[in-house]
Amino acid sequence: MAGLLDGKVGIVTGGGSGIGREVALRMAGEGAKVVVSDVVDDHGAETVSMIEAAGGSAAFVHADVAVQSEVEAMVKFAVDTYGALHLAVNNAGIGGPAAVTGEYPVDGWDKVISINLSGVFLGMRAELPAMVASGSGSIVNISSILGFVGFEQSCAYVAAKHGVIGLTQNAALEYGTQNIRVNSVHPGFIDTPLVAQAGMEKGSDLWDFIAAKHAMNRWGKPEEVAEVVIWLLSDKASFVTGSQYVVDGGYLAQ
Ligand code: NAP
Repeated sequence: MAGLLDGKVGIVTGGGSGIGREVALRMAGEGAKVVVSDVVDDHGAETVSMIEAAGGSAAFVHADVAVQSEVEAMVKFAVDTYGALHLAVNNAGIGGPAAVTGEYPVDGWDKVISINLSGVFLGMRAELPAMVASGSGSIVNISSILGFVGFEQSCAYVAAKHGVIGLTQNAALEYGTQNIRVNSVHPGFIDTPLVAQAGMEKGSDLWDFIAAKHAMNRWGKPEEVAEVVIWLLSDKASFVTGSQYVVDGGYLAQ
């Protein structure tokens, strides 16, 4: 059966875990050749093994999205390995420290902005020329519900995720006539290792409190986000660009 992404080559940053891993698996399942990149080589290689075990094509490249030379090498690797670049999911991100704005650690701010905001800029800066050369492109930048509203003790994350909307819209305006679409996806709280690292444990009061902020009174799953990302990457979304797609179980409906 034909896949939605047959013949396409794509990159997923932060593809070794959580949402990025699920997106990479689904991209390959829809026929794309996938370059999985991450800072944790073992995790990225594990995603590649999972794709290959399911009969798909994938390769791993180490890339810290905050480092321009590594991001450029990642895109070059994709083009050298598979001959083109059509798809990119700029997904890598971190939570960062928890503190009110008046006490927020400046080094924590710098780190979150460098990965969650500059990482998306550096990714698109390298990906867009490669997509122009390839004749078409679709980019999905992973923002958050916190790209629209605040969340106490998270000023850097919230500012970065708001910034991703502007970056996405700008690139969409610039590249729309070159057959390249650029959109952002905004998950609610999703059960991934990122939130475990932030100290939120399943079954805790905090976990339940956060679940209750969603109309569906639960956390989301990575595959529920991947579903929307795949659609945006595919030609089914051929007239969708510069848009924000919320996947949040009703968090923002309140
Ligand atoms: P995750 O499971 O922690 O996966 C993120 C991956 O990115 C990890 O493998 C991580 O490596 C990697 N990474 C971290 N810093 C990197 C860097 N500088 N360069 C390249 N890779 C890097 O997190 P996730 O929950 O799937 O999050 C994916 C994206 O969704 C993020 O942008 C996040 O902000 C966004 N998001 C998540 C949620 C949620 O509730 N989970 C909600 C809204 C938006 P390490 O293992 O070393 O960290």
